[in-house]
Amino acid sequence: VSTAPAGYPVPDGAPPPPIARRARMARIRESMASAGVDALLCSLGADLPWLTGYEAMPLERPTVLVLPADGEATLVVPRLEAPRVVHDEALFAMRPWLDREDAVAIVAELVGSRRRLAVSDRAWSSLLLALQSAIPGARWTPTSSIVGPLRAVKDASEIAALAAAAAAADRVADALLAGDIALVGRSEADVSVEIGARLVAEGHAKVNFSIVGSGPNAASPHHEPGARVIGPAETVVCDFGGTLHLGEDAGYCSDVTRTVVTGEPDEEVRELYDVLERAQAAAVRAVRPGITCEDVDRAGRSIIAAAGFGEHFVHRIGHGIGIEEHEDPYIVEGNGTVVDAGHAFSVEPGIYLPGRLGARIEDIVVAIDGGVRSLNLADHALHVVEA
Ligand code: ZN
Ligand code: ZN
Ligand code: ZN
Repeated sequence: VSTAPAGYPVPDGAPPPPIARRARMARIRESMASAGVDALLCSLGADLPWLTGYEAMPLERPTVLVLPADGEATLVVPRLEAPRVVHDEALFAMRPWLDREDAVAIVAELVGSRRRLAVSDRAWSSLLLALQSAIPGARWTPTSSIVGPLRAVKDASEIAALAAAAAAADRVADALLAGDIALVGRSEADVSVEIGARLVAEGHAKVNFSIVGSGPNAASPHHEPGARVIGPAETVVCDFGGTLHLGEDAGYCSDVTRTVVTGEPDEEVRELYDVLERAQAAAVRAVRPGITCEDVDRAGRSIIAAAGFGEHFVHRIGHGIGIEEHEDPYIVEGNGTVVDAGHAFSVEPGIYLPGRLGARIEDIVVAIDGGVRSLNLADHALHVVEA
């Protein structure tokens, strides 16, 4: 009998933990009340699937969940999209609209006299502009100010989904480290396509990105894989992730980076990689509830700086992850947000020597009571891939 503590993924074969959408909506209403927001208008982006399980397509036709602080929530959805909604009647009402109707007027009517409104960060500006003329005199804020801090703390079903996505991405990383994905003599683009196909074969519904940067291209953190043919004795940075659905839930993201070398590394590469590995491990070890986000960044960055590579680590050490690939909390100098149990984020230091080479190691971790749990478990040691 498994007695895994809350927040741990369920063993293989067990049903995923229940999705606590009603608890989420209750927390949002509390937060709206204390922030003085009368209604939330959730359109495109992750708030809507987090609350309802339904992800709106990025169409010109508006989809809006009107969620008043003091009344029933209503999903205003194009009639032809409505069959994709799994309707939980205890959670929200449905207002399907036909193309000959005016969706903005329907939203305005549901908003009524409320004037302190929050709208999705990722709503089209065309929708917001139309709402602003249909609802004059309103004060507008982004929904992230209400939902961001709540979505950042993952509940049991979300951690299970992130763990399943990480495990699927790890199986691709393992194949890379084992030399099962041929590198030398192939183009970066070719390898990128194979990694993407493997992500899907391992259970992802879609590939979000598949970065392959070889040789001098490895020094560009978000290199777009191209025609460059991978040669011998080069560092190759592979950073990939997709979206995986566990059971009936919205999709959750994976994001993992491993750097391999296509032949015996020289002293410089060994030293650089050793520094990077120690920095990544130190930052992961620093994670626990109570530490600030910026202190996690510093725990890794200080090791890279002490080794003389400080100016070559050109990005924050990590980002939150969930339904979105990048979300709160951001693990960066200047972010004094205190890490809570349930915060899930990447720890991904990199060292980039422009025009020459680069390396990055990335895992997704979750802060748990008293410490940290890494969701990615693929090996960190520098692997020589001769294939
Ligand atoms: Zn990135
Ligand atoms: Zn990544
Ligand atoms: Zn990342």
